Amino acid sequence: MRKKKPVCEHEWVDYKCTKCGQFATDDDFSLISDNTWELGSLSEIKEKLSPELFTLHIGINITGNFQCDGWHNIFMYQGRLLPHTEAVLDELGLQEIKNSFSKIITRFPKFASDEFTCDNCDELKFLYGAYWELPEEELRKYSEEERTKIADYNRLIEELDNISDKYFGYDTPYDGWESVIVYIKKLHNTD
Ligand SMILES: [Zn+2]
Repeated sequence: MRKKKPVCEHEWVDYKCTKCGQFATDDDFSLISDNTWELGSLSEIKEKLSPELFTLHIGINITGNFQCDGWHNIFMYQGRLLPHTEAVLDELGLQEIKNSFSKIITRFPKFASDEFTCDNCDELKFLYGAYWELPEEELRKYSEEERTKIADYNRLIEELDNISDKYFGYDTPYDGWESVIVYIKKLHNTD
């Protein structure tokens, strides 16, 4: 079958096409995000972008990664996003998700303490794996403090996943991208 010619070879500036005036949608976000990641480390990206564009970059990565794998995998593999997550959720008007996220950070402050390193990966893997994979008798070998930590982490992640589903789930407006799309339109002063 012959491919349809695209309406426009979009050139995105601030998530708006300079040729046809169309706003970027979730079909375009991963490409724009990949290009942004090429600007350098996250702190370099932060320096190069306006605060609004930085918010969008983080917001898009949180939404997309959540949709793929949920919050535990963001903690495991996208740790560099975490120090910025509370501010970005606030900025995007996602207070309910932010409040739930903050509970994890209050309980486990080091998971969002600075730029991405995988120092926390072993512990995260343990907390998650112990809960889902260890048989009951293995789990009993750990101290009560360790078992409480395991239970707390998994309970808080599950709560955060459930709340996030209400905003980022595929069955929500704009397939989970409403907060990002509203923010882009606000950036360009259109409703
Ligand atoms: Zn265009």
